[in-house]
Amino acid sequence: QDSTETKVIDQIHAFQTGITQPIEWRIAQLNRLIDLLNEQEDAIVDALQQDLRKPKFETLMTEVIVAKNEATYAINNVHAWSKPTYPSKTFPQLMDTVYIQKQPLGVVLLIGAWNYPIQLLFNQLVAVIVSGNCGIIKPSELSPVTADLIAKLIPQYLDKECFKVYLGGIPETTLLLQQKFDKIIYTGSSMVGKIIMKAAAEHLTPVLLELGGKSPVYVHKDSNLDLGITVAKRVAWGKYMNLGQTCTAPDYVLCHGHVLEEFLNKLKSTIKEMYGEDPQKSPDLARIVNARNFQRIEKLILGMSKEKLVVGGDMNEKTRYIAPTVYKDVHIGDPIMDSEIFGPILPVLAVNGEDEAIEIINGSDKPLAFYIFAKSDKVVQKLLSNTSSGGATVNDVLMHAAAYNLPFGGVGNSGMGAYHGKYSFDALTHERSISYRGQNLESLVAARYPPYTEKNLSM
Ligand code: NAD
Repeated sequence: QDSTETKVIDQIHAFQTGITQPIEWRIAQLNRLIDLLNEQEDAIVDALQQDLRKPKFETLMTEVIVAKNEATYAINNVHAWSKPTYPSKTFPQLMDTVYIQKQPLGVVLLIGAWNYPIQLLFNQLVAVIVSGNCGIIKPSELSPVTADLIAKLIPQYLDKECFKVYLGGIPETTLLLQQKFDKIIYTGSSMVGKIIMKAAAEHLTPVLLELGGKSPVYVHKDSNLDLGITVAKRVAWGKYMNLGQTCTAPDYVLCHGHVLEEFLNKLKSTIKEMYGEDPQKSPDLARIVNARNFQRIEKLILGMSKEKLVVGGDMNEKTRYIAPTVYKDVHIGDPIMDSEIFGPILPVLAVNGEDEAIEIINGSDKPLAFYIFAKSDKVVQKLLSNTSSGGATVNDVLMHAAAYNLPFGGVGNSGMGAYHGKYSFDALTHERSISYRGQNLESLVAARYPPYTEKNLSM
C-alpha cells in the first residue's frame, strides 16, 4: 500500500512542476501516442487476438484507427480549446477584464474496460494529455495480454513522471481508489460504477462513469428491408462485432409486426452471408472474454425455449464460442430481458408501433444507446422526444459513438459525463472564473462598504 501511495504522489509532484502546462508539450505527448499506435500495430493486433480472438480488421477499425483519429483531432484543436474565453460583460464589470481560464485538474485515474481495451483507454488518455493532466492508468485484468502490453509500452513512449500504469484486479483497484485523485474515469458495469462513485465520494473526487445498459433498436413498419438500407445487415453488424461485447451494441429489437417476418428472415440470411454456414469456422468472429461471461450467456440460452430460436444457439465452452443467435416471440419479463446481454444473442420482440416501443423503453433504465429504423421523420422525432438514452443513431447503429465531434456518454444508469473531442478536454478541465480589476477607481465601489444606508442600496 505504501508504495502505491508514494507513486501517486509522484504524479502529483510531476503535475505541480507545471510540465503539462505548455501546449507544445501536450502535442508532443499526443504525437508519441500516435507513434505507439503506428509502430506497435502488430503487437496490438496480436494481443487482442490472444485476449478476445478479435479479428485484425476489427482491431484496426474499432481500436487503433479510432484512437489515432481522436489523438489527431486533439492535436489540431488543443490551441483553440485551451485559450481563455471572454464572456460579454455586465454593467458592474465594465471597468474589469473578465474571462474563463482553462485549467487542468491534476491527476486523473483511468480504470479501463476489457472489451475495447485499446480504444477506450487510449481515447481517455488523449483526454488526459490534451487537457494537461497527469494520469494513472489501470487497464482491465480481464484482457491480460493487452494489459501487459499497455504496461510495457506506455513508459516507452510517454513521459514516465506524468503517466503511470498499474496492473491488477479488484484488490489493486481497491487500493488505488483509497488515494486522492482529481478525477476518476471508469468504464464498465453500472454495479461496479456505484463502488467507484462511493470510493470517490470519500475524497469528493468527481467521476466520469462510462457504463452500459440494454440498448434497444426500433424497426418501424415503413422501413424498407429489401432495397435502400439493409436494416438487418446494419443491426447484425453492430450486434455481432466483438461477439456482442460492445457497450453500445443493439441489445434487443422492438420490431413492428408488419415487417417482423421479413426482418427475421433477413437476419437469418445476413448472418449466413457474413459468417458462413458454420460461424464457428469464420475468422471474423471474436470469442467471449472468459469462462464467467461464457457461463452467464450460456445460462441465458439454456433458459430460452428452442421454439423461439430463429438462428444460432450453438456453443463451445472450450473455445468460448457462442454462435450469432436470434430469438423471436420474446416478451418483457423473460429472463433475457432482465439485464444487458453483452454477448451474441439478439431477442426480437413484436410491437404494434412506436407508442408501444416508447412504453417498453421507458419501462426500464435509461440505455447507453438507442437505434431507430424508420423512413418517417415524424416517427423518428416522436421516438427521440419521448425517450432518453446516452446517444442515438437513426437508420444505422454505433455511428454516434464513433464520432469525435459528438459527446459520448450515458445518462441515468448508463453513466454520467461524456468525452470525445472537445468534450474530453472539457471533462478534465476546470473553468476558472477570473474577474480582474485594476488598483484604481475606488470611488466606483465606495458605496458598498458599511455603515450601510438605504441611499447606498439605490445606487
Ligand atoms: P466490470 O465493471 O466488472 O470491471 C471493469 C473494471 O473495474 C476492471 O478494471 C476491474 O478491475 C474493476 N473492478 C471490478 N470490480 C471492482 C470492484 N469491486 N472494486 C474496484 N474495481 C473493480 O466490467 P464488466 O462488467 O465486465 O464490463 C461490462 C460492462 O461495461 C457492460 O455493462 C458494458 O456495457 C460496460 N461498458 C461500457 C462502456 C462505455 O464506454 N460506456 C465501454 C465498455 C463496457
